[in-house]
Amino acid sequence: WFITLEGGDGVGKTTQAALLTAWLEARGRTVVRTREPGGTDLGQRIREIVLHERGHVAPRAEALLYAADRAHHVETVVRPAVARGDVVLQDRYIDSSVAYQGVARGLGADHIRSVSDWAADGLVPDLTVLLDLDVTVGRSRVAAARGDTFDRLESEAEAFHESVRQAFLAMATAEPDRFLVVDAAEDPVAVQQRIRAAVAALVPA
Ligand code: C5P
Ligand code: MG
Repeated sequence: WFITLEGGDGVGKTTQAALLTAWLEARGRTVVRTREPGGTDLGQRIREIVLHERGHVAPRAEALLYAADRAHHVETVVRPAVARGDVVLQDRYIDSSVAYQGVARGLGADHIRSVSDWAADGLVPDLTVLLDLDVTVGRSRVAAARGDTFDRLESEAEAFHESVRQAFLAMATAEPDRFLVVDAAEDPVAVQQRIRAAVAALVPA
């Protein structure tokens, strides 16, 4: 099974992934917890480039770096794990690229979707959990968690994050069978209960 977690910064993807992993493992499943960008050694190097050299990488080149990370990750980590019968629990996937590069950065959702689908050789998640949260709340969670260190987030406009949020919601509306949208303003335990209910329907104990 291939399950992805999506949503803006500060919505609680990491917290929910940790809780879900513990629960799945208690049910006897082997979980591969991973992320994009950065789920492989090559991906870690790509992640350094895209996250720390932003502004020095042309937007289309940046989109292709995400795609390169994804191509390598899907082929060497995700597909083998799914083939073994493990549960792959992944922080961000193609929907993030469509929301950030395609919509918010204006490269075009259809272009980014098709480049990403090609990179992933058509691998579609069985379930995508979208953690939806007011942008201001998400940004203040991130700021609180990171203290006063410089954060790229602070330099990006509120409108950018709102556009990311709306892009995710539009995708969820377009593919209601794949998406579970959860209100991430609820407390983490309540959020987790909703996710577990959906996962229990997908992955037998
Ligand atoms: O993986 P993480 O949540 O740390 O992502 C950090 C940032 O990377 C996001 O806030 C976003 O700006 C960017 N990103 C992106 N496109 C992706 C994945 C991440 O623009 N496909
Ligand atoms: Mg995170």
